[in-house]
Amino acid sequence: MKLIFKFGGTSLSSGQNIERVVRIVKDYVDRRDRVVVVCSAMDDVTDLLIELTREASSGDHQRIESAVSELNKMHIEAVEAVIRGREVRETIVRLINGRLEDLRRALLGVSYLREVTPRSQDYILSFGERLSTTIVWGALKDWGVDAVYLEGGDAGIVTNSNFGEALPIMEVLVREVREKVGGLLDEGRVPVITGFIGKNTEGVITTLGRGGSDYTATLIGYAINADEVWLWTDVDGLMTADPRVVKDAKVLSKVSFEEAIEMALFGAKGLHPRALEPAKQANIRVRIKNTFNPQSPGTLIGGNARQSSTCTVKGVMLVRNAGMITVRGPSMVGRPGTAAKILGVFAKENVNVMMISQSVSESSISVVVRREWVKRLKEVLEREMLTDEEVEKIEAEDDVSVVAVVGEGMKGTPGVAGKVFSAIANKKINVRMIAQGSSELNISFVVKESDALEAVRALHEEYRLRELET
Ligand code: ADP
Ligand code: ASP
Ligand code: MG
Repeated sequence: MKLIFKFGGTSLSSGQNIERVVRIVKDYVDRRDRVVVVCSAMDDVTDLLIELTREASSGDHQRIESAVSELNKMHIEAVEAVIRGREVRETIVRLINGRLEDLRRALLGVSYLREVTPRSQDYILSFGERLSTTIVWGALKDWGVDAVYLEGGDAGIVTNSNFGEALPIMEVLVREVREKVGGLLDEGRVPVITGFIGKNTEGVITTLGRGGSDYTATLIGYAINADEVWLWTDVDGLMTADPRVVKDAKVLSKVSFEEAIEMALFGAKGLHPRALEPAKQANIRVRIKNTFNPQSPGTLIGGNARQSSTCTVKGVMLVRNAGMITVRGPSMVGRPGTAAKILGVFAKENVNVMMISQSVSESSISVVVRREWVKRLKEVLEREMLTDEEVEKIEAEDDVSVVAVVGEGMKGTPGVAGKVFSAIANKKINVRMIAQGSSELNISFVVKESDALEAVRALHEEYRLRELET
């Protein structure tokens, strides 16, 4: 079989864990499967790099030195734990030190200029994957696998220049990935590729957005027509709810692409929201597997997953870090063009809209986005819209969460909404906004962040998801 294995940061968080990863890859390679490996950054490294860039841009030199040595310690310890051969180990240590020096210089640059651009942010973030993948590559070589290290761009992940959330340029990408990655597979070698990062047409490093390594894996799967893409992580599969929120959440053995896409949109397993698109388009099965329990069958996405959707609801998802912006004006609703104008502002700012709803009685339009955007969007909307006479006020709330109930069986089943909202009302939770996708695969609503966990648990209970036969 032709397989893409993507290992998330949770699977690469120490030398010991990387050893598990290497064992898994070697197992499949020895069985003559053709395997492409895609790696995320070690756990939490991307978050650290984001924080560091922010600190550097306020001129904090001291913090740069201590963080770079923290990163050095973490990566070198992993190398020493997993790579035994002296020669490979020395090569990898040298490469890691070189990369960390480049990172240090980039951060110092930011701190002298006191400015960070989206482009320099992407360059800095790319170090997470470049460091971790270097170690995995070295470890595979050390274990006798004929591995070849490739950065996203070298592998053919070509994107537009929308730094921070770049989009693939499919035509070029498919051609290049086929040539580079497909070529190596044909030679019987194992490409080991940095997830998350690509390059624009001028060769400048870009990133695909948070959780983007999943997307790298499916894009490569699409380009080389893989049989399956396996996303290796730290849980047994996609679950009926976040196991950190609902203790008795259950693993779903099969879900359809449509269901998984809805779940990903609402934050399930931190899956990149677009990651399943290429797989769905090329009908490539995706599996979620547990690095720490490889025997477990995991979740199959796609294939004949539809057969198992006899239950109405399959999961209750939660996006904690949401924000809501409401535009009000007495004569606004019913006047064509206002919603278009609001959404135009969001598009211009490159912001993904999670939900939108219009209330006639209150003459308002509310839009839900990721929390980090709220402040800026409010400012831009005030600048661009308060001059219109029909817009009176723009309100922003940054303490809300989105709860979504997802399941293919909801389609055409009457009474789902009634049941959902009476369960919420029974807990005396106030619902701020409601939306239902036209696909009828989900009902989503907004609550105060402080009510969100209780809402998720109440719905998990109401639909008896812990007893779900999957
Ligand atoms: P990775 O490092 O493998 O990319 P992530 O941290 O992105 O892993 O995602 C894995 C985590 O997602 C799990 O540890 C789990 O706590 C969380 N999670 C949230 N919602 C779900 C869900 N519905 N099903 C499975 N895991 C979930
Ligand atoms: N390291 C990146 C992130 O944390 C990409 C990924 O892990 O998929 O978002
Ligand atoms: Mg992830």
